[in-house]
Amino acid sequence: MPEKTVPFTLAQLEQIEKAHPTPFHLYDERGIRENARRLKAAFSWNPGFREYFAVKACPNPFLMALLREEGFGMDCSSLSELLLSERVGVTGEGIMFTSNDTPAEEFVKAKGLGAIINLDDLSHLAFLESCAGVPERLCFRYNPGPLKGGNAIIGNPEQAKYGFTREQLFEGYRLAKAKGVRRFGLHTMVASNELNPQYFIDTAEILFDLVAALSRELGITFEFVNMGGGIGIPYRPEQAAVDLERVGQGVRQAYETRLLGAGHPPLKLYLECGRMVTGPYGFLVSRVRHIKRTYKTYAGLDACMANLMRPALYGAYHHISVPAKAGQPCDTLYDVTGSLCENNDKFAVDRLLPELAPGDLVVIHDAGAHGHAMGFQYNGKLRSAELLAREDGSVVLIRRAETAADYFATLDFDALSAFRA
Ligand SMILES: *Cc1c(COP(=O)(O)O)cnc(C)c1O
Repeated sequence: MPEKTVPFTLAQLEQIEKAHPTPFHLYDERGIRENARRLKAAFSWNPGFREYFAVKACPNPFLMALLREEGFGMDCSSLSELLLSERVGVTGEGIMFTSNDTPAEEFVKAKGLGAIINLDDLSHLAFLESCAGVPERLCFRYNPGPLKGGNAIIGNPEQAKYGFTREQLFEGYRLAKAKGVRRFGLHTMVASNELNPQYFIDTAEILFDLVAALSRELGITFEFVNMGGGIGIPYRPEQAAVDLERVGQGVRQAYETRLLGAGHPPLKLYLECGRMVTGPYGFLVSRVRHIKRTYKTYAGLDACMANLMRPALYGAYHHISVPAKAGQPCDTLYDVTGSLCENNDKFAVDRLLPELAPGDLVVIHDAGAHGHAMGFQYNGKLRSAELLAREDGSVVLIRRAETAADYFATLDFDALSAFRA
């Protein structure tokens, strides 16, 4: 079985730990940049190609700044994400705003920033007009319903709350054109953590056929097609990463035959991946606190699901390495737990690992997306620091660990004193 590797030596991790006690999230700049370049290269045949990083995966402005340098835009879906992008210096068509159940203030902010607004529903067109005005450029999110199978994380498109039906798209673009929209885009997002390259090619085919039909019937020309995100990552050692080159070439063939072949002029292709951009390049570094033996054997870490809740939330697999014991047999069965008063606070259940002892350093893989980002403070647990290992070998603190003062920041204890007096 192929092994998952950690791009840091034990000595490096121990050195980092001197300044930044565990647990912490550690991101690998080189890995992120090389991967970003692979993604761009796979679509370099399309002159306008752009990846909009789905900010929710890892909303850290240092990482966003790094991705901006690689030419990425930002895919935002909340006011805070819009503000974050603005702070990083990404505005205008560098932002794709894809929200749902959207409040007026978010449309106002997105329009103010000149972001590409992607509407989730036909009724939002009038809502947008009333709160922010109709922009010159507009995109709609398509839900292909029964045309497309789903998966466990995003669900079946017919059951998904997102997007327009096909009929609504025809009505929507007609209406938008009548309201003065001149620049059109089409978007969909139907997969999550999908590892089959053909899935993305099939999605592109559906979108290109739809664009050809919409432009034929409505007399509009599309400026871009956003194929969404959802490219999966190999969480398990036996899985393989998506062959980006194959996706790029498959999409190219569909583009040439179904779009250009149908007489549509060239348009720009966008992706809005999050998980595959940062996921594999983030590691949760923790130490074993206690070993407990009852009906099972538990390795209790100093990290908990406040740092990474995917295993607890979805039963997701995250690989665990023990760098100091890399050569030793994985012959001891553990539940690897955190300290939250929730029995699902487990990073792994029935995992074979080298025999562990208190103090052992463990590295949890693929924590760079939906890791720190999903953190929470339930049970008074505090979110850990985020660190970036630079290409030059230096390490930068890109978000400090929370303290009790952060936990109490929204409380007014003076008001409590007055309340009790
Ligand atoms: C979450 C999300 C993405 C990114 O999905 P990944 O699986 O992280 O690639 C892109 N677009 C929208 C609208 C999303 O909600």
